[in-house]
Amino acid sequence: MQGSRGEKITPAPCRPGTLAYLEVRMRKPFVAGNWKMYMTVAEARHLVNEIVPGLQAIVGVEKVVCPPATALLAVRALLEGTAIGLGAQNMHWENSGAYTGEIAPGMVAELCHYVIVGHSERRAYFGETDIIVNRKVHSALAHGLVPIVCVGETLAEYEAGLTGEVVTRQVKAGLAGINQAAGYTSLVIAYEPVWAIGTGRAATPEGANTIVAQVIRPALTAVFDEGTAEILRVLYGGSVKSENAGAFFNLPNIDGALVGGASLKSTEFVAITQAAGR
Ligand code: PEP
Repeated sequence: MQGSRGEKITPAPCRPGTLAYLEVRMRKPFVAGNWKMYMTVAEARHLVNEIVPGLQAIVGVEKVVCPPATALLAVRALLEGTAIGLGAQNMHWENSGAYTGEIAPGMVAELCHYVIVGHSERRAYFGETDIIVNRKVHSALAHGLVPIVCVGETLAEYEAGLTGEVVTRQVKAGLAGINQAAGYTSLVIAYEPVWAIGTGRAATPEGANTIVAQVIRPALTAVFDEGTAEILRVLYGGSVKSENAGAFFNLPNIDGALVGGASLKSTEFVAITQAAGR
């Protein structure tokens, strides 16, 4: 088996044909589109109108779009009556306060059901630490939101052989105390190696699967317990496209994708979501 950039590593313990494989396949596939800081309200409406018919035809996949905050209300109106979920890309952890420019969890929860937390762009450009991620995850769950918690190593960390250490720290610190929070089994983890985001250089599917199996699920076991670690969904994110999506989704530990750039193209996003449904 290969690592996320093609190096040789020991195979993950969960193989097709084993009981563990059958159990993990019971996690419902999940595909979310992170639109980042793209799409005016008019553009968002146009994109939603293009993707709804294709996404509605796909069964057995939890489908979510995460537009910028300014387009949430308009997109919410268009998604009403569909099986497509709506998420925010960020929120503050405090219920309210003098935090100019921020959006409170209750305000997010008024409009949507999911929220991305700890995306590497927030960590890199807005100083989001593991402690802040942890506060946001607690706050999101307390407001009935489903947090999509992003973790992943930078290129420098990867090259220094620190992937396991960094990702374990991010999962354990980001989820500290969450085993006491109501609704924690709804949370979703996204493994997004920073060097793969927006670069066109995705991790190898086998390598990403191995990081999930040998790093993320053991860290989830440490935070919760083995049973919970087996039912929580873990997505892969980083240059997912229609041409590589199926190779990720065929692997037992990857339960879907967080899609950035390709989620802005209707045919790409629908095709990626279709691949998750097979
Ligand atoms: C992301 O923003 O979470 C992401 C995975 O981006 P991209 O698919 O463009 O690499």
